[in-house]
Amino acid sequence: MDERPVGRPRRRSVGVMTGSFHTDYSRRIAQELSRALHEADRDVFLFQGLDASRFLNLSDYVDPGFDRHYYSQFEYSKFLSLDALIISFGTISAIPDAVSLEEFLAKLPQVPVILLEDEHELSNGCFITVDNYTGMRDCVEHLIEDHGYRSILYVSGPSGVSDAEVRLRAFLDSMAAHGLPVPETAIGHGNFTDRVDPVIETLLEANPRAEAIVCGNDEMAESAYRVLRRRGLTPGVDIAVTGFDDNISTPFMDPPLTSVRQSCREIADRTAQLVTELLDGHRPKSVRLPARLVRRSSCGCREGAVPTEGSEKLHEEHGWLMSTRLKNKQLTNNNMLSALMLRNLLHENISVHLFFEKLGMQLAALKTETSLIALLREPMNVSDCGKLFLPEEVRVHMVQMRHSVQTWARDNAPLLTAGEGNPFQRELDGAGLSTCVFPLFYSNIHYGVFMVSIRPEDMLFYYTLSLEIGTGLRYLYMALDQQETRKTLEQQNRILDYSASHDALTGLYNRVASLHRGYSFVREKGKGSRFAAVMADIDHLKQINDTFGHSAGDEAIQTAAALLHAALPEGSPLGRTGGDEFACVFQLREDFSADDFRRRLSELCRIHNEESGKPWYEELSVGCKVFSYEQSDDIMEHFRQADAALYKAKAHRRSSVVRQEKKP
Ligand code: GH3
Ligand code: MG
Repeated sequence: MDERPVGRPRRRSVGVMTGSFHTDYSRRIAQELSRALHEADRDVFLFQGLDASRFLNLSDYVDPGFDRHYYSQFEYSKFLSLDALIISFGTISAIPDAVSLEEFLAKLPQVPVILLEDEHELSNGCFITVDNYTGMRDCVEHLIEDHGYRSILYVSGPSGVSDAEVRLRAFLDSMAAHGLPVPETAIGHGNFTDRVDPVIETLLEANPRAEAIVCGNDEMAESAYRVLRRRGLTPGVDIAVTGFDDNISTPFMDPPLTSVRQSCREIADRTAQLVTELLDGHRPKSVRLPARLVRRSSCGCREGAVPTEGSEKLHEEHGWLMSTRLKNKQLTNNNMLSALMLRNLLHENISVHLFFEKLGMQLAALKTETSLIALLREPMNVSDCGKLFLPEEVRVHMVQMRHSVQTWARDNAPLLTAGEGNPFQRELDGAGLSTCVFPLFYSNIHYGVFMVSIRPEDMLFYYTLSLEIGTGLRYLYMALDQQETRKTLEQQNRILDYSASHDALTGLYNRVASLHRGYSFVREKGKGSRFAAVMADIDHLKQINDTFGHSAGDEAIQTAAALLHAALPEGSPLGRTGGDEFACVFQLREDFSADDFRRRLSELCRIHNEESGKPWYEELSVGCKVFSYEQSDDIMEHFRQADAALYKAKAHRRSSVVRQEKKP
């Protein structure tokens, strides 16, 4: 349901899905598409897949599990209302355990799709590619015909990726057309990243006399440069190297890389046009843009022989160089900022509400236009689920719009349901900004999603920030767990304390505790006070047990405890020290002596026996010892004397406590 004010039509929203922003090509294509789509007045949502560790020369840190988090974030598109999707499938599927296109599309909103780098005809869209075949053929023919190379090695992209397969076919066809054999050992299979050193090592081992290495893209050519230098060989002099894509950095490589140019700007402009045609209900034809060989010195062409580049490209490169220094500085500052932000988020008494409130305020302080955080109901371990795994519901915990921050705790957080739109989407559609969608995770635990409207140049900063927020969430959940555990422990300790000091049958203090309480009671009241130490014992409990059963005996013990408690001044520590034996200390007052206590107890017993209706008399014998604080606070001795008095008192108990009168 659209709640826009009348007169302001909803802008159409387009999702752009690419590989990691850490690769030149994905970042460039995402930035160019953002620009072209904004020019066409579209709202843009950017989903970037694959974990950066694959592209950071951190091969030891690559964990396929991390890619799952990034794959999952394409699925977050189902919590938005998108009118079309642009999928750079070649970059997304460039990992060994990528899902198939069919599997991938099935999990996404069923809207028109434009596929990049993959010549797959779709029922609800079209593809746009560059002419990979002609581009690669031109490159290989240049090496054979202009340079006269015969032994040429090929580093292919991943199998199953359309771009990679077409380029490989063009290579093989061109070699065959020139009657040049290609032994199996001359083809290596890489993954389109700059981490294919072992593939190139193997190729060179098997073909020590090779004259050229043709790489399926520029990133893999970077790897080839590295391996050659390690072996003391100079690319372009000892052995030719070529790439494909003509990334922005290729002219600055040493030596500048011969490559096949596909213009991201042109791809983006044509894609934006295709989106418009699709949204207008037309069925545009798929497009194949021309790809052009750009000769530089890595293929053996000497400077001067290389035709000068067009001014547009030079201008672009100059701008890129100029802004790099500034960006580096900004990046350093921003990296600091994200670390500081994390530090401010974490403290011991953190709650969900507080965490998101602080996070929102800090995002606002970073001048973030709008952002949203939604979490899974429970964090999920990605090692337990498939490649695509998001549940059908997430909960929104924070929405930040400039300086206003709204947060929700777990129970009342608004739900987003797959396919049912997103009431917050309007806020995320910042004019001229794209909304980036980042997964939130730590290690293999997936928490949810961070959507943030950004300028294209801030992509990497917010990417870093999303990692920090993931770490923050890990801490939050741990702190919440810890708080919960602490609460349970405290409760259990209270129970333990109680059971260690109390008697379960009567709830009175047990033997040890009654002694302790007695000591402290006497000390608290202190000098000038007089006390009575009391020992009491039920008369003929054995007889009650034997005649009426053990539970009747238990009841008699409980009754005795209650009667003693009632007879004593309030606050006097009373304990059950043995089977039917009790001990207590109370303070004597002018109007309450030891005899008063005795009288009150026997009166209470009398009343009880009159009313209890039990077939036995409840009676206790009592021994008292009166003492003053000054005499001694060692109440053990006073208890001993009270016990002696009790022993004497027993002589006066009645001979039987079983009632003679007929029971009702
Ligand atoms: P006396 O009048 O001399 O005190 O005789 P008595 O039968 O009460 O015997 P005594 O005080 O010497 O021993 C207490 C008896 O109470 C021993 C035991 O059979 C019984 N008893 C001890 N603990 C429990 C208990 O927890 N429940 C029950 N039902 N009986 C108990
Ligand atoms: Mg007894």
